[in-house]
Amino acid sequence: MRPSLACPPFARYTEFAGEHAVARIAAKAARLAGLRVINVSSTFYGGGVAEILSSLTLVQRDLGLRADWRLVQGSPDFFSVTKKLHNALQGAPIDLTDLKKAIYEETNAQNALRMDLDADLVVVHDPQPLPLIERYRRTCPWVWHCHVDLTRPDPACWAYLRRFVDQYDAVVVSLPEYAQELDVPQVAFMPAIDPFSVKNRELSPAEIRERLAHYGIPDDLPIVAQVSRFDRWKDPQGVIVAFRRACEDVDATLVLLGNVATDDPEGQEVFESLLDSRDERILVLTAEDSALVNALQRRAAVVLQKSLREGFGLTVAEAMWKGAAVIGGDCGGIRHQIEDGTNGFRVRSVEEAARRIGELVADADLRARLGAAARESVRARFLMSRLVEQELDLYAALQPRFVLHADPAVPELRRPPASGPGART
Ligand code: UDP
Repeated sequence: MRPSLACPPFARYTEFAGEHAVARIAAKAARLAGLRVINVSSTFYGGGVAEILSSLTLVQRDLGLRADWRLVQGSPDFFSVTKKLHNALQGAPIDLTDLKKAIYEETNAQNALRMDLDADLVVVHDPQPLPLIERYRRTCPWVWHCHVDLTRPDPACWAYLRRFVDQYDAVVVSLPEYAQELDVPQVAFMPAIDPFSVKNRELSPAEIRERLAHYGIPDDLPIVAQVSRFDRWKDPQGVIVAFRRACEDVDATLVLLGNVATDDPEGQEVFESLLDSRDERILVLTAEDSALVNALQRRAAVVLQKSLREGFGLTVAEAMWKGAAVIGGDCGGIRHQIEDGTNGFRVRSVEEAARRIGELVADADLRARLGAAARESVRARFLMSRLVEQELDLYAALQPRFVLHADPAVPELRRPPASGPGART
């Protein structure tokens, strides 16, 4: 049969995950065939959640589930409040006024009225649609999947949001250490990338050259790149300062490629704040082009993700999959992705970033060694096949009527312990 171009068959994962894993996952999916799962997020585009859902829902469809993906509608006021909540979940202070709460809750109440979420399972992503649960007359289990860095949420913000979170049947966080004190069982699923997407598939040297040339990116000198939403947590300013310092010892070109997600009102301001730093060797680009992201991550001598907070760095996994030498900020999910000195470097300061950029630009052997280890670590841990299986296990655990056989691989939905890692006091 001719493979569908829109949705590469799941069987293609055999190449990277092995026949045994693919057969096991397909068998789990067969037991959930026809399951109606509705995902709700706040944007189809820009940022890691949209990236994951694009691939995840297609793979789940290919495996026989009726996976769907809807958006909450909101005014700029709403997204301004939700961005502040997002920042506060990552530890920034917030002035949580009654007006902000009213905008947040009323918009969700309107969405609850407008949306038809009758399914076998609803998965709500991130804080924007979180209060939907309070207003929707629900008929099935609901899961809240939080993708942000929950290392140290602002206490007032968390106390307010917890009221909604506790109404869910299960919570998914990106890392075990993000587990919160909740009345709801929690599991940790690290995000994953799709190796067959335009962003991640193999490109020929000619295709890479063509994409870079199309955007006027010079490749006469080694390229240092960061690909990120324009967001201050990604520290683009720190990248520029580190690059300038590194250039006291090595010659290179810096490319900051970014976008502004439709649910992020601060992005444009961050983008504009960088424009004065541009020069012949510092490019700040915004282009909606997955093939450019792919080409840049493949061509760059060094890929940075100098984040200050990062739930999980999809860009880190994407670059590592391409065998790039990656320097990541020592925070959140990046700590699980990069083993310092083995498959990349983690840095805690601009000075450290500058030193690592210089070291990597000057040493092709070091880049090759780290890059090879990086690719293998993504193959083993961060491909979509792993996330698909975790999701299936979770759905099965929440849908006993679909599970015909007891399955030892079903994850234990755990509550955070009263003390020890993950516990909050
Ligand atoms: N991205 C992109 N173009 C850009 C900037 C980012 O396609 O100009 C993509 C990037 O490749 C990745 C996602 O947006 O797939 C960002 O996910 P990540 O987890 O790194 O960060 P988030 O934006 O979710 O905080």
